[in-house]
Amino acid sequence: MSMQNKNPLYDLALRVSEAGPDDLAFDGLRVLQHPERFRKFLMGKGLDIEPVTLQIWPSLSCNVRCPTCPFRLTDAKAQADNDENLHLMPLPLFRKILKSIKRGDVKSVLLTGGGEPLMNPDIGIMAEELHSSGLDWGGFTNGLALTTDIAERLLRAKPGMFRVSLDAGDPSLYKKIYAAESDIFELVKSNIIAAGKIASKLGYKWFGIGFALIPNVTDTELVNIRNTFIDLVEQSNFGMNFASFRPRVVHHNNGKVVIPQKWSGQYHNLAIRVRELIVLPMESKYREAVRLDHKFGAFADCDRDVSPTGGWGHVWNPTLDHRGLGSIISHLAGSSNNPSIWDGVAEGKDFWESWKSDKRKKVLRQILEGEIKLPVANGARAVDAFLEEVRSIFPEWLDEAGADKVMDGIESWDFHRSSRPNFVG
Ligand code: SF4
Repeated sequence: MSMQNKNPLYDLALRVSEAGPDDLAFDGLRVLQHPERFRKFLMGKGLDIEPVTLQIWPSLSCNVRCPTCPFRLTDAKAQADNDENLHLMPLPLFRKILKSIKRGDVKSVLLTGGGEPLMNPDIGIMAEELHSSGLDWGGFTNGLALTTDIAERLLRAKPGMFRVSLDAGDPSLYKKIYAAESDIFELVKSNIIAAGKIASKLGYKWFGIGFALIPNVTDTELVNIRNTFIDLVEQSNFGMNFASFRPRVVHHNNGKVVIPQKWSGQYHNLAIRVRELIVLPMESKYREAVRLDHKFGAFADCDRDVSPTGGWGHVWNPTLDHRGLGSIISHLAGSSNNPSIWDGVAEGKDFWESWKSDKRKKVLRQILEGEIKLPVANGARAVDAFLEEVRSIFPEWLDEAGADKVMDGIESWDFHRSSRPNFVG
C-alpha cells in the first residue's frame, strides 16, 4: 500500500472513485479495467488501441421526427426523413462487420442510431448473432416498435444493457421532444411495461429507461418523471428497474459545434434538481431494488463556453453508420460534411485495415490538436476527462519500464470498478 500511495496514477484512481459520478471522469475510470490498452495509452500508442465498444446503426430511418434529433440537425437524415424507403444496414453487411471485429479484441457492440434500431426487421437476428458470437451487446430504442415479440427475442439474447429513451414523464413534455401525440407517449409506456414484465419473467436485470433533460424542464415535469418511473417499475414487476439521466444538448448545428449551449450556466443546477427531486427520493424508496445512473458531472460539463478538449476516448468507442462508414465523432456520423469520417467497412474495406489506416489516425490527430472541434456531451467525454487527468500527471509518454512501474499491481487496486467494463461510452 505504501508503494501505491506514492503512485500518482493510483492516487488519481482513488480520488476519482471517491468523487463518484459528480466527477465527469468517473465513468472514464473503466479504462483501467482494460490494462493492456491503458498501458499503450501511457506509452503514447493511444491511436493504435483497438475499440472496446463499437457503436453500430442498424437503421438510419426513424418512426418519429424529433425536432432536435442530432442526426436531423446535421443532414444525415435528410433523405431518410423524406422518402418512402427504409435506410437500413443490410444483414450481410452486419455479418461482415461481426466477422471482422471478431478477428480483433472488440468487447462489445451497441445497436444505436442514427435512426430507430427496431426499424430494421433483422434486429432480432443481429442480437442473436452478437450473443452467440460471445460479444457483449446492448441497445437503445425509442420504444414505439417494442412489441412483446421483439422484446422477448432481444432480451433472450441477453444484452448487457437495453434501454428505452423516454425523456419525459408526461404527454406534454413528450410532445415537445418527440413531436408526437399523447397516444404515442401512452403506447411507449405500455410497451415498456410489457417488455419489463418479460424481463422480470426471464430474470433479466438490465432493462431500463433513459431521460435526456434540458435545463428549462420544470420541477413539475421532473416530479412527473419520478412518478412515471415509479409507475413503470411497479407495473412491470420490477422488470424495468433502472433509469439513466443525462443532459440533452444540441451537438452540432449548421455544420458547427454548438458552444455555448442555449442553456449554458444552468446544467449544473439542473443536475442538482434531478438529484433532489428524483434520485434521492427514489434511492430512499427502493434502496438497491432499482438503479439510477445520474450523470451529474456530465450535466455540469455542459455549462462550458469552450469546446471540450481530448479525443483519445474516441478510439475506445467509434461508430459505424448503416452503410458501414466509420465516424470518430459519433454525432457527425452519416452527415455529408463529416470531418471525422474514416472508411470503416464500407466499399469492401476490411475493418482492421481501415482502423490501422493513416486516414483514421490523421482525423484523430486533427481532433487532438483542436483542428476538428468536439461537441459538448460527446460520447467519449468521460473517458477523455479521465485520460486528460492522466496526461496531466504524466505529461511525457512513458517507456515500457515506466508504464510497468505505474501500473504495478493495478488488478488489485481498490478503485471503483464498473460492473460492465466492456461498455465504454
Ligand atoms: S427517436 Fe432518436 S433517431 Fe428518431 S428522430 Fe428522435 S432523436 Fe432522432
